[in-house]
Amino acid sequence: MKLEKGRNPLSTILQLVDVWKSYDDMKALCGLNLEVFKGEIFGLVGPNGAGKTTCLKIIVGLLKMDKGSITINGLDPTVHPYKYKRSIGYVPESVSLPDYLTVEELLIYSGKIREVPNEILKQRIDSYLKIFDLEDKRETLILQLSRGMRQKTAMASALIHDPDLLILDEPLIGIDPAGQHVIKEIFNMRIKENKTVFLSTHMLDTAERMCNRVAIIHRGRNVATGDLRHLQSLSETGENATLEEVFLKLTEERGTEKKEQIDEQPKKRSLFDVFR
Ligand code: ATP
Repeated sequence: MKLEKGRNPLSTILQLVDVWKSYDDMKALCGLNLEVFKGEIFGLVGPNGAGKTTCLKIIVGLLKMDKGSITINGLDPTVHPYKYKRSIGYVPESVSLPDYLTVEELLIYSGKIREVPNEILKQRIDSYLKIFDLEDKRETLILQLSRGMRQKTAMASALIHDPDLLILDEPLIGIDPAGQHVIKEIFNMRIKENKTVFLSTHMLDTAERMCNRVAIIHRGRNVATGDLRHLQSLSETGENATLEEVFLKLTEERGTEKKEQIDEQPKKRSLFDVFR
């Protein structure tokens, strides 16, 4: 189990400080703080609607935050947008790729726009097609790929420029066991090179197995961050508790806290009170 191995990383790659985001009246992120270290596999876990996808989209620049700051390798995206984005490889939850390109054409395109030199690009394409078992699909149109094959193609495309930070939204959904094994191998290869993997997942057993540390987010806030041992101690669930047990305890407590806070507030008058 990876999560129990506390790491002692040297430096921060990604930092979010007091990030807020609302969609109209709906508060999706409420002062989210996160710190991710170089060379770790970091998981963002939380219930449906916790704000995971919103958080990832803000980091990669697909959504604008209302307030707060984000840096990657100390770079502010508003000051160094090009360098900032070059550090990222991103695979969204619902992969959308150009159907009219072949797998190889997409990978060439992804490499070219990120200025990967030709010789290196060729080697990387060969290597990722092999790793993801897509060699026989090299000249196949994306339109003709299965869902899992598209996922793997998207991951190869996100890795083609060798980014410092690989960001993945629910990376294992729709991938068969062999594909999941390959992805885990890739993660391990990345961290050996001091690169970082940042993923969001619902699957707590996966997070427990794959990640060095996780952040549990709930209602747009970071409830707890750390390795399993730290989270077990924080939640007082005992040293044999699984991440799922820890997660349920911490998010349950948060729910209760929130309820108590609400209960402390003066009760709103209902229509029944008005007409009483
Ligand atoms: P899930 O695990 O279900 O994918 P999540 O943790 O990724 O959820 P988000 O998708 O970030 O959560 O959503 C956070 C909150 O923001 C939810 O209440 C959601 O309904 C709301 N939300 C997300 N996108 C939009 C949008 N485009 N417009 C309005 N509300 C949105």
